[in-house]
Amino acid sequence: MSIPDHLQQQLDDGLLLRSRDGYRGRYAPSPTGVLHQGNLQTALLSWLQARHRGGVWLLRIDDLDTPRNRDGAIEAIEADLRWLGLDWDGPLIQQSHRVEVYDDWLSWLRLSGQLFACRCSRRELAGLPRYPGTCRKAGHHWGWLNERLPSWRLQVPDPDPEGSGDVVLRRSDGFIAYQLATVLDELSDGITDVVRGEDLHEALPAQRSIYRALDQSPPRFHHGPLVCDGSGQKLSKREASAGLAALREQGMDAADVVGLLASGLNLVEPGSRLTARELLEGLTQDPIRAADS
Ligand code: GLU
Repeated sequence: MSIPDHLQQQLDDGLLLRSRDGYRGRYAPSPTGVLHQGNLQTALLSWLQARHRGGVWLLRIDDLDTPRNRDGAIEAIEADLRWLGLDWDGPLIQQSHRVEVYDDWLSWLRLSGQLFACRCSRRELAGLPRYPGTCRKAGHHWGWLNERLPSWRLQVPDPDPEGSGDVVLRRSDGFIAYQLATVLDELSDGITDVVRGEDLHEALPAQRSIYRALDQSPPRFHHGPLVCDGSGQKLSKREASAGLAALREQGMDAADVVGLLASGLNLVEPGSRLTARELLEGLTQDPIRAADS
């Protein structure tokens, strides 16, 4: 079954953007709280890499999981990035404005026989390394049953080279899954390089399976280092204490913070003070390489 024209057009537009710009990156925070030092460090790395390559850098807000969104978080993200001197290209993108398009893709995937309805509960699947295919052949319908909707899973063909299992594309609460939305966005926005935090490495197999199902080539992926708190735990957006406001309260200005974030990426010595532009202009190699070392 061929892809409807308006969806095919999006893929074509994305390819055109890729070849026009050569490098297109993005930063894609969820508006669930204030950006913490780890988020900011990833934003800096993603921005630096795009600018170092003379590319485009987009800011996309992953706001589909509405119950988790926090009022004012989008404005705070924009203000923090601006304060640090991380400028993005074009208008802010919001996934919540693209729901109809994701739904159209879901309908097409379903009609073309690539999805199945899964009625497994979270409890039934807990502890399994990947989905064991339980509902693949069950032929469940797509409607309500015992006050529950099914989740919609992509039937990943065997063998499953990515090891993702059958990926959920629409959750049983009706929300479009992050995995699907992010893949569709990278494609339609023509993203060539995804630079994000190491915590999202685990999302890679699922996303690769979706690219495969759509018969599209994925962008390059790079996962940068995380920042941990004093007890070795990865920082969470819900702890406002880790945000910029706290650093400012300690008397730090933007140059101090850029220095702090850049030292976490092995780009400068600890204690350095410099603007994001100065950091960019002083680069002698790809920042993602330095951050890896
Ligand atoms: N919105 C996701 C998050 O904040 C990141 C998405 C991505 O970079 O792929 O964790």
